[in-house]
Amino acid sequence: MKNMTTLQLFLDQKDRVEPLHIYYTFSERHKYIRNALYFLSYALEHNLNVLFLEEDTVYQEIRVQLLKTYSSEKVDTIMYQDSMQFYLNGKQFDADRNSEHVLSLLTPLLEKGEHILIWGQVLFPSENSLSQLRQYEMNCDKFISEKHITSVCAYNGLTIPAYVQTELLKTHKYFMTDDEVTISGLYQREHLQSFSDHDRKRIANIERKNRQLIHDNENLCEAYEIIARKKKDYWKLLKELPIPILISKDDTLVYANERALADLELPPFENIKGESIFNFIHFTDHFLEQKWINTLQSNQEFEMKEVELKLENDSIKTFKLKSIFTWYKESESILHVLIDLTPYKLLEKKMIRAEKLNLAGQLAAGIAHEIKNPLTSIKGFYKLIKYGMGKEKYFNIIDDELDRIEQIANEFLILSKPHSDIFKIHSISRIIEEVKTLLETQAIIKGNDIITSYPEEELLIKCEETKIKQVFVNLLKNAVEATKNGHIYVTVKKQLDFVDIIIQDEGCGISKEALSKISEPFFTTKEKGTGLGLLICDKIIENHNGMRSIESTEGVGTTFTITFPLTKGQQTYIPVDPILYNDLSTHV
Ligand code: ADP
Ligand code: MG
Repeated sequence: MKNMTTLQLFLDQKDRVEPLHIYYTFSERHKYIRNALYFLSYALEHNLNVLFLEEDTVYQEIRVQLLKTYSSEKVDTIMYQDSMQFYLNGKQFDADRNSEHVLSLLTPLLEKGEHILIWGQVLFPSENSLSQLRQYEMNCDKFISEKHITSVCAYNGLTIPAYVQTELLKTHKYFMTDDEVTISGLYQREHLQSFSDHDRKRIANIERKNRQLIHDNENLCEAYEIIARKKKDYWKLLKELPIPILISKDDTLVYANERALADLELPPFENIKGESIFNFIHFTDHFLEQKWINTLQSNQEFEMKEVELKLENDSIKTFKLKSIFTWYKESESILHVLIDLTPYKLLEKKMIRAEKLNLAGQLAAGIAHEIKNPLTSIKGFYKLIKYGMGKEKYFNIIDDELDRIEQIANEFLILSKPHSDIFKIHSISRIIEEVKTLLETQAIIKGNDIITSYPEEELLIKCEETKIKQVFVNLLKNAVEATKNGHIYVTVKKQLDFVDIIIQDEGCGISKEALSKISEPFFTTKEKGTGLGLLICDKIIENHNGMRSIESTEGVGTTFTITFPLTKGQQTYIPVDPILYNDLSTHV
């Protein structure tokens, strides 16, 4: 290219008389050092005054090189200034202060008419310095031209923005890179005079836009940092949370945390990675499992409060399962949370049993009393018969009394029987009648009357008989304990697909404050109460997909309403929610 030459050739031009103001944008450090070294050597070689503005470390490196050729006295003739202190001095870049500073250093020499060389690496300090920088270079260009100075203004090409470079090329006649020097096509002599209004506005505009860009960039960096932090947190959560988590992508397992591998008794992750998730998660209920698979494959999330899974070693555990959409390694995936409920289920079973035994114990006294009466009359009539005073009707009385004893003993046994855990279809009115038998004595002792009413149609529910009886024994017992000389109404009503069992007493009622606590464990207002009865009733009702509500007024009485789904044959409508339908079909 025309006019192009290396710095060496350029300085060596014997016929060069005009001043040199070079804009140097460097990008390779070793070439920068080589060029600076050549510049200083040229000055020393020709006994010229040279001002060198650089960082101390760079200067020390160059000085070592110079000392290989020149004496230290000679090298010390270089006027060295630390560029950081020279240009910024802990403050903003100030064009006038800096150009005056250069002039004050050079004036004594210029007055003697000596030729001067300047090399300075100019620091571009902050976003607002373009106008200052340009003003500085304009000032420099002016006295460089007037005083016939040779000056290289070096800028770091890797950090200086292109818009600044473009502006600076207008104030330098020459443009230099690490390897070449050429004439700057943008150089404008009129800049030697002053900024035009138009120019000032234009630069202010550039600076404003640049500030906005820097601001946007900072926001982006911040957002990026937040995203990066969140990503890290997400990973940490997945790894450290003591909750079993699996992630699948297109049905394939892509992630499993330690807890999931342990709770689901799975082989090491490496061995199952990439396999279909449906290969190692098996429900005991195949119908439900198919539902889960279909739900996920039709891009819907899935949740199941309790589901039994059959593990590799054939053991069965109960889990809460939730499958939700998530992002994993930049693509849509499904995150499965599986919480092992097995220990809680065992605890719950134990609690239900303990409370049942407690109920049976409490009932025993009343039952003994109930059995004692018929026994006394049987004994009396037996004696009469023994001594030949028997009449036909005594046998009938003895038969009736024996039936009554048998009935009570049977009921008592049912309550004390271990849980069968088998859901069967039972008549709700029969269950209630049998529970009534157990509680009647206690009711009579307290002057209470238990009045039952049933619809004509026999209503059936699918349930565990002993557990449902346990619920009604506790509710009826609570009603009897709260009531004195009053009525206890037990009403069974059909409501579409459900049956309501309403237990209404005329007892002491429950205060508003106590009402919020009655289901809490160990809340009791009774001297010998356990405070576990209602809590266990709620658990059993929940396991039967039922509901419980309560209304109570102090001094008036309390009404409990229990609702259970009817067996399918008796339902007026089939429920539409597939998941709920599922739940019902498994348990009820
Ligand atoms: P417990 O009968 O051992 O006290 P429960 O859980 O069965 O335990 O009942 C908790 C409390 O709820 C009772 O102590 C009582 O204060 C209140 N409660 C329950 N049912 C009734 C009722 N029908 N009338 C008044 N209070 C009741
Ligand atoms: Mg109770």
